[in-house]
Amino acid sequence: MQMVVSDRVVGQQPNGERATVPVIQFSNGTGPKVYIQANIHGAEIQGNAVIERFLSLCRTHPPQGQFTIVPMANPIGINQKSGEFTLGRFDPISGDNWNRQYHFNGDAIAPFAQQQRHASDQQVKAAFTELLQQQLQARLQTPWGLKTGQRMALSLQQLATDADIVLDLHTGPVSDRHLYVPEFARAQAKRFNIPLNIIMPADFGGALDEAAFSPWWQLSQAFAALGRDFPIAVNAFTLELGSQEHLDPHQAEQDALGIASYLEQHGCWADGSHHPTPVTQHACLLQDYRALYSPSGGQVEYLGQLGTPLPQGQAIARIWHYHKLGQDTPLFEEITLPCDAIPVLHFASANAQQGTELYKVLTNTFEL
Ligand SMILES: [Zn+2]
Repeated sequence: MQMVVSDRVVGQQPNGERATVPVIQFSNGTGPKVYIQANIHGAEIQGNAVIERFLSLCRTHPPQGQFTIVPMANPIGINQKSGEFTLGRFDPISGDNWNRQYHFNGDAIAPFAQQQRHASDQQVKAAFTELLQQQLQARLQTPWGLKTGQRMALSLQQLATDADIVLDLHTGPVSDRHLYVPEFARAQAKRFNIPLNIIMPADFGGALDEAAFSPWWQLSQAFAALGRDFPIAVNAFTLELGSQEHLDPHQAEQDALGIASYLEQHGCWADGSHHPTPVTQHACLLQDYRALYSPSGGQVEYLGQLGTPLPQGQAIARIWHYHKLGQDTPLFEEITLPCDAIPVLHFASANAQQGTELYKVLTNTFEL
């Protein structure tokens, strides 16, 4: 099976150099169109390792379908270093999050559904994909120009628009593996074999996964209002595969197997071809995915083990106040959990302002 590699231009640097991303494409027989992207946030490099392992799986045992795979999706973000750290979550000029700049204009939905209400599902799918592509093209050609991050996002989104499945690979700061699951795709999400799961509504907020599934979900709702049942044609997920600034090829192998196992459900391989080592899968609703903020400024000792269910009242962090050294007062305060929770991620630094988001935790959990 031949893999074709090309460069896609997503911007231009001040020195005239083109900002490009590598695009890997291959196809085999009949199957779904799959788009996988990694590293839109510069410090989140683990997704590239997962893609490396996934491509190795594909070489050994070619999947059915058409694949477009973009590692290192942000040539500006990955080069954005400050001292020894990679920044790369926000455009340094505008402050915008690189993963909130994808485009969809929902005004088109109601008239489209009205116009297409007697067309076949297949015709609707083709026409709506065309409409989404036209929206992107028109946006890219606006005479007002686009922000750096918008142009980059739209250039990537063009590659993903006709995909049936879109997977955007990220990491947290210091983080256990977790998955954002659109409510309608809950049953299939189990196969990724990711331990912590956040069930979210299907609204559009500018991220790639939402830009992929939300138009189709909204279209399905608009048809439902006209009395027609139209299945949601696109599945998309954001996978958070560990910590930023961290590379773990062994874990990447497991997550590549999880992705392959998920794709088996769409016919890319025979069901049961891949076997990641099973993990316990906890989940909660987005509204129960809570942040715990630091009540004071100081130096942080993180106590809460990521991925471990902890009881209400458990000490999750200590804030040390070293500015009080030498005085006859307590040097630290303990932060305890307001309810039972499973820590998902914590702030990457041991030095925090008052109001820093120290931890994010699942609450009111259930098994996925
Ligand atoms: Zn990210």
